[in-house]
Amino acid sequence: LFLPVLNAPTPAAGPTLDLGAAPRSHGAKLWLPKRVLFTPDALQEEYGQQMLASATALGLDIELLKSNRITGLRGDDERATYRTAKTTLAVVNAPAGALRLQPTPPSADFQLNLAEGCPAHCQYCYLAGSLSGPPVVRAFANLPKLLANTQVYERADRPVSFEASCYTDVLGIEHLTGALGEAVRYFAGREGARLRFVSKYDHVESLVGLPHNGHTRARASLNAEPLARQLEGGTASIEARIQALRRLALPVAQGGGGYPVGVLMAPIMPLPDWRQHYGELLDRVQAAFDFDCDLTVEFVTHRFTPGSKEVLLGWYPNTTLDLSEESRAVKRNKFGGLKYVYDVPTMKELKAWFYAEWQRRFPHAPVQYWT
Ligand code: SF4
Repeated sequence: LFLPVLNAPTPAAGPTLDLGAAPRSHGAKLWLPKRVLFTPDALQEEYGQQMLASATALGLDIELLKSNRITGLRGDDERATYRTAKTTLAVVNAPAGALRLQPTPPSADFQLNLAEGCPAHCQYCYLAGSLSGPPVVRAFANLPKLLANTQVYERADRPVSFEASCYTDVLGIEHLTGALGEAVRYFAGREGARLRFVSKYDHVESLVGLPHNGHTRARASLNAEPLARQLEGGTASIEARIQALRRLALPVAQGGGGYPVGVLMAPIMPLPDWRQHYGELLDRVQAAFDFDCDLTVEFVTHRFTPGSKEVLLGWYPNTTLDLSEESRAVKRNKFGGLKYVYDVPTMKELKAWFYAEWQRRFPHAPVQYWT
């Protein structure tokens, strides 16, 4: 999920984590793809036309495809394919199957994918192994249909939540798509539905004045400073993300967005001196949230699968990310798939610490889940 270094190459990881440097506070640059592809079907849609107008106004290299298939993204090797795909935006229609929404516990009731793929370069990327093919960013032009389809999933007894960040960082591409703002406006008018998104970007200005009716929860993905710095290429700095979240949470009367907000602490890793680094992060969040607001937190520990490891090592062959199976516990899902998580003693220690430290600082901001 999150910016963008202008057509940046994948950052090469250093040999060790940089544990000593001071926090940086710069925002992300707007991601501008080297190429923007439009399929014929996408251009039949009003939103496809709007994205074409935006890309044209930005002076981007535009290609109008003759067919609805996206080809030509593969390079000579994995790294070349990665570079080409990560600098390409494809505007397409989401396929019919996208209207059958998938559950996405524990974060929300259902996925709502406004796009797939992400311009950032996180070396632990959640998308590795989840999306097939080159990691191109696909923005969906049939947006009104995708939004209206959520009504099928609403229920009478409680609001139903929709997560927009399962396969992309919607804020990271918002300047090119406008889809997040449109979704915020749409959900503002739905009493039975709630929208959630999370980002590693900080370009929140376009969201600040939107009517949201408290139906969208904006979250920032945060991590210990050395991990963010070393592993999250192309994203906004941690400080910029905190300040962007603060802006969205501030009351409208104080120039903010007045949104319900949240912190997604992810992926949590027991790096050397983790208590110190995560403690400093929590202190920074506490300092920024010196006013009453609707704040939640989610805790997600690092995990990987055999498939995601293979993809990540193709994308980031020099990564410093710990992907050794030996130090992990195996967790199986009901379909027989396995993932590697931290062992039980490590998980217990992390969980107890994070709950205690969060609740001490934010007694009125509920923990939504730990995983
Ligand atoms: Fe984008 Fe990083 Fe999230 Fe992957 S983990 S989708 S690169 S922000």
